[in-house]
Amino acid sequence: MSTVISMPKLRYSEEALAPVIGKETLGFHFGKHLQTYVNNLNNLIVGTEYADATLETMAAKADGAIGNNAGQVLNHNLYFEQFAPVGQKSAPAGKLAEAIDKSFGSFDEMKAKMTAAASTLFGSGWAWLCADAEGRLSIAQMPNADNPLRHGLRPLLTFDVWEHAYYLDYQNRRADYINALWDIIDWNVVGSRF
Ligand code: MN
Repeated sequence: MSTVISMPKLRYSEEALAPVIGKETLGFHFGKHLQTYVNNLNNLIVGTEYADATLETMAAKADGAIGNNAGQVLNHNLYFEQFAPVGQKSAPAGKLAEAIDKSFGSFDEMKAKMTAAASTLFGSGWAWLCADAEGRLSIAQMPNADNPLRHGLRPLLTFDVWEHAYYLDYQNRRADYINALWDIIDWNVVGSRF
């Protein structure tokens, strides 16, 4: 059986994240950008050593176009699956909350570090909250389609700072987009990744 990469199913409507992420952005970002990465990847892996591999293996190991497209599919799946409709506020709980306090001192300090990483990343890429094998947390900037799996880390939370993620809603105001993202994070999803 060859691997077929499919689109993730969103648990919220196209309007549910507005005004943090507007309907038009979601339409292009999820419906066009991610769909293109998924289509590219399915075409690229035919007849290669990755034809039967998992998405995680491709994203962690493959070089060149397969690695780039697999990284972008993995990263966007994590990004779009971590949001809850505006107004459904949650907060880190249990083991994740403990690990955040242990690794950063406080939730606010973690947010400040993640915000800074996303704001100062030069060019296109992703800011991450990651966990290592011992459950220690860290913040990282990764360019283009790079992802924590390539560095032996588990991805928990990610902010897409490619311009296509925010330009329709915020134009050049990347910092406003990043600050607003905190309002729609589903911490139950992030906790389940930990
Ligand atoms: Mn994107």
